[in-house]
Amino acid sequence: MNKGAFAAQKIFNEFGLDDLSEFSVEDLIHARDIILEEKKIQNADGRIVFGNNKSKISVNSDIKHSGRRRFTLAHELGHFEMHHNINTQLEDNSLTLDYFKSGNQEYEANQFATELLMPQSSFLNFITGKLFSPALLREIAEHFQTSITSATFRYLEIGKHPISVFYSKDKKVIYWKNSPNYFRKVKEITRLAPPDDSVAMEFYKAGTIYTKNDSAQEIVKSTWFETKDYDSADAYYEFAIVTKDFNTVLSVVWED
Ligand SMILES: [Zn+2]
Repeated sequence: MNKGAFAAQKIFNEFGLDDLSEFSVEDLIHARDIILEEKKIQNADGRIVFGNNKSKISVNSDIKHSGRRRFTLAHELGHFEMHHNINTQLEDNSLTLDYFKSGNQEYEANQFATELLMPQSSFLNFITGKLFSPALLREIAEHFQTSITSATFRYLEIGKHPISVFYSKDKKVIYWKNSPNYFRKVKEITRLAPPDDSVAMEFYKAGTIYTKNDSAQEIVKSTWFETKDYDSADAYYEFAIVTKDFNTVLSVVWED
């Protein structure tokens, strides 16, 4: 078990919980005697300040989606549980909340929030027998009351159907990741613009955001991956999860 998941399980044990169906994240924050405030924060979803006697978590009051707000709170609580003695203050913009980069502490806080909101066993139970689709990611986010982004990362790590994700901001690919054991060679795109024929690029060029029913857009393998002559022309799909206020796209790519 990773450090973040371990810290989340420790909280479950301490409070005698299997999951967060009875307790809210706010309950846990209050139980830790942390001050919680909602206010406008420029360019960040949340932050935590560690005081000598008390700590304070702030969450951006402009966050529209309750799932994203809840993931932010869980992430900040994770900092409290694990990084209390290392820092005096941590601030989280969309980048740090988006999982794989910007240092160990951020990854640990995300792992903590992921296990707290979507415990592995509950998650696997929930997806068993369900086919992968954008609708499933929405269903997961709704069921576990978290953001679709965090539901996607959870699925990437332990879901049944292999997927790849490509994260871009301001028309630049920042990182990508494949499901474990999904070997697709990604084109050289890091720090460059997303591919011209990608759904992500449609957003950056024309502001296109597809409706729920059209979330799965058909692309080709060569959109994001290296191809060889013998590659078949199997259909690939891209679901672009756009966060307009940070100008980011999380592209989810998969085959049937
Ligand atoms: Zn953080």
